[in-house]
Amino acid sequence: MRERYDVIVVGSGPAGTMTAKHAALGGADVLIIEKRQEVGSPVRCGEGFSVDWLPKVGLKPDKRWLVNTVESGRMYSPGGHCFKFGAAMGGNEMGAVIERDIFDKCLAEDAIKAGAKLQLKTACMGLERKDGVVRMAVDHIGERKHLECKVVVGADGYESQVGRWIGIDTNIDPKDVMTCFQYRMIGIDVDPKINDFYISNAKMPGGYAWVFCKSADMANVGIGVQASRITEPGAPKRYLDKFISEHPHLAKGFATEAVAGGVSVCQPIDRTVADNVMLVGDSARQIDPMTGGGIAHACKAGCVAGRVAAEAIVAKDYSAEFFQRYEKGWRDIFENVLWRNYMAKEKVQAMSDETMDKIIESLSLVQIDQLSIFGILDAVRRKYPELVKEFEEFL
Ligand code: FAD
Repeated sequence: MRERYDVIVVGSGPAGTMTAKHAALGGADVLIIEKRQEVGSPVRCGEGFSVDWLPKVGLKPDKRWLVNTVESGRMYSPGGHCFKFGAAMGGNEMGAVIERDIFDKCLAEDAIKAGAKLQLKTACMGLERKDGVVRMAVDHIGERKHLECKVVVGADGYESQVGRWIGIDTNIDPKDVMTCFQYRMIGIDVDPKINDFYISNAKMPGGYAWVFCKSADMANVGIGVQASRITEPGAPKRYLDKFISEHPHLAKGFATEAVAGGVSVCQPIDRTVADNVMLVGDSARQIDPMTGGGIAHACKAGCVAGRVAAEAIVAKDYSAEFFQRYEKGWRDIFENVLWRNYMAKEKVQAMSDETMDKIIESLSLVQIDQLSIFGILDAVRRKYPELVKEFEEFL
């Protein structure tokens, strides 16, 4: 590891490696630092995925990580009504289930082939801007070192510190945090072509439970609960255990892995750039607030950030003003989706279980072509016109 680089990317998740790849392709001298000993592991993800957005970021489905193709989804209401929808209607997290650790490693491989360097077991411990560059303290296998670069990309995930260190407000209100717990389960009995979702504000307050299948007897079974509604430690695990115990096709199985993690489901933050710094992926709070999925947005934003980082090196301009190209670039691609889904999430979190039942029941009775707000409300209007009044602002 040298002391100076054009660009240092903190974090080797999809946001970081995508950024590094595009910065290196643009001619920048790039280092990725990763605090863990292995890219992508341990996995903290439901591994729900869609292949539809891959061409937009220059990727193709790859059988090294694409382990199951899913044809449809089922949404279960608190009272057991079920609405079935095609995978194509399910957005960025439906259509496939992946091995996330292998996916992340493949992206890292792409970045390295493009010319980026990667240092594992290297944690960013703090940074400061001085004389137009950034000085960074890192812990490299227990040894304190100092690095210098012109551009830092904070791709350090949900628990990001880069933004905070540099004065970008990435704080999230607990009501906009989903606290998740998930098991990888074997010995269960599922249809591998269908992913299931369960909603109930009584049983999984402010969130939902998911069953993302890897095969007929293996799935990621998880739950997300709104952090502001958690009153005691360990609650998400207890909600998940109860959910599993109430579903015999899952209760017969065994957990081989357990993961806990946070997901931001907030509105887009005001600013994701500062002088010398860009934030990408979960660190920039780019997760879809409705689904809690973030891989697609991390990759899309990473492409833009990498290109802008390379352009900044050529232009010798590392100012926040120059990085507006990134700020505007990612917002043009998906900021509208974040706002729309944030509003929808707020509505769903405030809904009674009775209303959820009515909505899912209405959807189960008709064929809808698109999981759009309009499509859903139109279907509900036919059976419960009085309910649609609550959602007038969406219309
Ligand atoms: P990350 O993948 O979190 O990568 C950040 C990296 O930065 C990590 O490797 C970390 O070790 C490293 N790092 C952090 N701090 C430092 C430091 N100081 N120095 C060096 N390295 C550092 N999304 C989906 O699309 N589909 C799903 O099914 C899905 N399910 C999920 C289930 C759970 C339980 C959780 C918690 C999240 C889920 N997500 C899902 C969200 C998805 O995992 C994230 O949106 C995605 O990982 C974002 O990528 P990223 O690169 O921004 O961050």
